[in-house]
Amino acid sequence: MIGSGIYGMSNPKYTDKGRIHLLPDAFESEEELAKTLYHEKTHIEQFIQYGHEYVMNNRDRFEDLSESLEDTYFLKKEWLKT
Ligand SMILES: [Zn+2]
Repeated sequence: MIGSGIYGMSNPKYTDKGRIHLLPDAFESEEELAKTLYHEKTHIEQFIQYGHEYVMNNRDRFEDLSESLEDTYFLKKEWLKT
């Protein structure tokens, strides 16, 4: 599973708050772990807000949104370091 390019998965079915599964690639670095948690937490919020079925039926759009939010969060974080 290392090098698969899949860092984590989110599953809303376990509780009303969802569950995040971290895969080995997520542990490449501290930053990758933080990005993965942020990305998957965004999916959990999407599941809670829009429902599992709607999110899964529109997963490409929600994936793009999660990736852009992840990028925005980390660009802001890098900007604050300077
Ligand atoms: Zn995703």
